[in-house]
Formats: sequence, structure tokens, C-alpha cells
Amino acid sequence: DARCDPCCDARPRPRCDARSMSVTLASAEVFSRFVSELPGDPEEGPRRRQVHGALYSRVEPTPVRDPRLVVLVPEVAALLGLDPAATPAYAQVLGGCALVKGMDPYAACYGGHQFGNWAGQLGDGRVINLGELRGADGALWELQLKGAGPTPYSRGADGRAVLRSSVRELVCSEAMHHLGVPTTRALSLVTTGEPVMRDMFYDGNPAPEPGAIVCRVAPSFLRFGNFELPASRGDEDTLRALVRFTLKHFYPHRIAGEVMDVGGFFADVAERTAAMVVGWMRVGFVHGVMNTDNLSVLGLTMDYGPYGWIEPYDPGWTPNTTDAQGRRYRFGNQPTITRWNLLQLARALAPLMDDVAPLERTLAGYGDALNDALRAMMLGKLGLPVDPSRAEADQALVDGLTAALGRAEVDMTRFFRALAAVPVDTLGGAPTQHLVRLRESLYDPDGQAARLEALGEWVEVYLARVRDAGIADGARRAAMDAVNPLYVPRNYLLHEVIEALDGGDAGPLTALMETLRRPYTPQPGAERWAALRPVWARSKPGCSMLSCSS
Ligand code: AMP
Ligand code: MG
Repeated sequence: DARCDPCCDARPRPRCDARSMSVTLASAEVFSRFVSELPGDPEEGPRRRQVHGALYSRVEPTPVRDPRLVVLVPEVAALLGLDPAATPAYAQVLGGCALVKGMDPYAACYGGHQFGNWAGQLGDGRVINLGELRGADGALWELQLKGAGPTPYSRGADGRAVLRSSVRELVCSEAMHHLGVPTTRALSLVTTGEPVMRDMFYDGNPAPEPGAIVCRVAPSFLRFGNFELPASRGDEDTLRALVRFTLKHFYPHRIAGEVMDVGGFFADVAERTAAMVVGWMRVGFVHGVMNTDNLSVLGLTMDYGPYGWIEPYDPGWTPNTTDAQGRRYRFGNQPTITRWNLLQLARALAPLMDDVAPLERTLAGYGDALNDALRAMMLGKLGLPVDPSRAEADQALVDGLTAALGRAEVDMTRFFRALAAVPVDTLGGAPTQHLVRLRESLYDPDGQAARLEALGEWVEVYLARVRDAGIADGARRAAMDAVNPLYVPRNYLLHEVIEALDGGDAGPLTALMETLRRPYTPQPGAERWAALRPVWARSKPGCSMLSCSS
């Protein structure tokens, strides 16, 4: 098999014979519109290089020694029309050791702004796209393997992923979906049987860790950075081809024949990006690396790296050690950052437009629209209706809450569930009585009274508002519990799950994923997945802070 010839990377390619196996995952046809319709790199294989005038490079996954399927997400398999009962072929294909007929694997060429600076060509450095499948509902889904080996875009790195970061990606993408926040999905987790060297603490002591591959699934993985790179090079032909492709397949109402409504497309991306970040703020998610190469033009949460979940409410918190200095991507800054990122996308699209006024209009209106959406979301979390005539007072109520939460060391997730259960007839008592009801969401319930006082007082103001609006306790609680999750993949829970898996026990991983399928519904026996972060996890790496070295 000519395709098994050793490439520029001198690494041995074990099990090359697997490629010639006749493997099927489904009777469905596999194809790739990205490859068949867009300009590609004439050179194939993983030799590291700058790629011009092309949107991707053909490169195959590098087979691994011992691919084992640890998780197959049944819902995603069903979505793709795959048999959810795993066969040996799954481990082969999802571990990058075999291809299904029709797969024409490639790595996408993109650039991006990282931490506010233009970084030039980045590209899929450890992701290899396998192709598209027509799902059970007729929709098309692209499949890609993260950690599948080197590509032309791997730069100095190895193209692999470690088990811990793969588990984090798997769990969180599925959790986000069930939380109702737009996201890429995850089909599978395969362990590779090959160690990966990582300097987890950036202290000059790299150590071997188990390697793994996650299969990600989305209608498209196109990022802002795919558009930015050709634009940065003044390559309008490539840029135009990409925009046409994107509109044709993902924004068909923005294209008619040769006429492209680029301004309308940008407005749609802005709307979807806003909806995504409002979802993050609702559930307490901190992405951690909102570089433009990690922002989807479909408004999907993607590239789960050093992300985290807000436990003690703190808008200044970021889980990403690489961002600890500037805290550019801290929780409270995420909405603002989406606008900055959209501005970069607008700059990339501008060369295709005679008149950039539509881009400017979208950007000019973005901040207000986002603030309105954020206020509406917060009112939803409080079980209150949106009333434009009360916008100012409602904003003050929301601001008062976030200030009080920050001072009192309150667990964001548990707080909103507890608040939903506080009856309106407790209004008018001592503010401290509310603290008793909220006790289970406080990290330091017996701490300084001064830090807790404001929260009790805020609850008084809130209950008065609920009473004036004439909202019944039961209805309010049901509405609140439908938007305030009880279970989120807390950082320390993932740490525990990964430790168990390292010890050979996949039970906790399966149990956590099962609970996260219904994050708004109390489930008997699942109390541990809703618990406050324990003291041991406060400052433990992997629980409070994460590095990009995944
Ligand atoms: P990220 O910060 O994970 O979004 O990655 C930024 C860029 O680095 C992307 O181009 C990735 O594909 C690339 N990258 C990250 N980790 C690796 C790795 N282990 N091997 C090759 N490329 C990587
Ligand atoms: Mg990325």
C-alpha cells in the first residue's frame, strides 16, 4: 500500500496493514465537501510547512499501537446513523488505524489572533478530518479525530493528545449539548496504548502520559481563523471560495447564485456568537482560550482545552494558567471578547465587500444587543419576566446580585437552585434567615458576617420584586430549575473521573456522563456530582487551574 510509505516524520507507523482492511461503520456513504469543493494543498502528508492558496492539506491519521474504544456516546452514534453497539472496526477507525471507503482525510489551514495578537498560520495541528456522514435525520456531520498524529500544521508539537484532556473534551462537549448551549459533539474516546510526553506543570519535567483520541462531530469546524488567514495574505480568491462554500452549505439564505450577502452572513455569525456566550454565562462556563482560531462561524462552543466552571462566583476567574497574568479570557470578560473577535472576522470579510457599512452596523449594535440578551438571561435565572419598561431597575437587581455573590463566596450553580426554593413569604424577616436557606451554596457559611450580609439583603429586594410581579413560588421554581443546571462538569469532578480512569476504572466517567445527560433534573444517587468543591480541590492543579499543555 503506497499510502503506508514512511513519510517525512521518521516515526514508525505500526499497524499500517489496518488501512487495507475493509472497514465499515455504517452503510452510509462517506465524503468530504471541504475537499471536493475547495482549493487544497498540492503536497500531501505531514511535512511541516506554510501552505498558501489552499484551505487544507491531505494527511492521514498516524496509526497507534493499541487502539481501545473506552467510550462510544450512543446518542451521537445514533445521530450519525451508526450502530451504537460497538464493533472492533470502531476502535480501528476512531483510533486512526483504518479508513472507511470514501474518507479523504485532511487538516484545515487556518490562522488566528491568540491573546490579542496575530499569530499567522496555525491550522489543525493535531486534528485530522475524516469526512462527512449523512446522519439519521438527513443532516450532514463532519467527523474529526483530535490527537490523530502530525499534520503540516503541527509546528513543533507531536499531533497527539493525552487522556486527561481527551476526557475533558469528551465530557464537556456532551454536557454543553445537554445544557442547551450550542457546541460541537463528541462520538468517542479511544486510548492509543502509546505514551505521550508532556510537561504538565511547565517546570521542565516532561513525563509520559497515556495518549487518547476523541472523535468530534459537528456540521462544520470552520473557525474565524479560517477566514482570517487568506485575508491576512491578501489572497482574495481563496477567501472568496471559502465564504461561498460557507454560505452555500451553512447559510444558504445568504447566497443566491453568484450573489453573496456577506454582511448578512456576518450579522448571522454575530447573532449566533452572542447566543453562545450568553449560554456560557448562564451555566458558568469559562472557555479559557477564546482566540479567534477557537471561535466557530456556526456559533458552536469548540476546542475544549483549559476550560473551567465557575464554582465560587468570581467574574475575574480564569482556569487557564497561560492567561493568569492578563486574565483576558476571565469569566466576566467573555462577552466583551466575542465583540473583539467579531471585529477580527469583520476585518477578514471586508475585502469581499464594496461597502462595509453592514459590517459596521452589526458591530455598532452588538454591544447593546448582547447586554440586553445578558440581562434577559439573568432575569430568566431569577425566574423574572423581561419588562423593557423596568430595564434599569432590573439591571440594578442583577448587578446587586453579582456584587453580593462575589463578596460572599457563593457556589454559582448551587446558589440558583437554592434561591429557586426560597418562598416569597419569607420576605420581611431578618435577611440572615435567607442565608440559612442558601447555606448549602456557601463556601464559608460561618465566615465574616459582613461578607454575607449583602447577600441576605439582596434576597429581600429580590423577593419583593417577585411578590410585586405576582409570581407564584411553584411556577418560579419550575422556570428557574429549567435554566439553572444542578449538574455541571466541575473541574474537580473531572479530576476524580480521570484519576479513576488512570487506575483502570471507567465507572465514574460513565456515571458522570449519564448524570450530565439530564443536568436540570435531580437524579437519585447522583448527589456527589452536584456537591460543593471540596477543600482539597481549592488549589490543586487540574481542579482550579489548567495549562494549555494538553
Ligand atoms: P489550541 O490552543 O489547542 O487551540 O491550539 C492552538 C494551535 O496549536 C492549533 O493550531 C493546534 O492544532 C495546535 N496544537 C495544540 N496542541 C498540539 C499538539 N499536541 N500537536 C500539534 N499541534 C498542536
Ligand atoms: Mg484550537
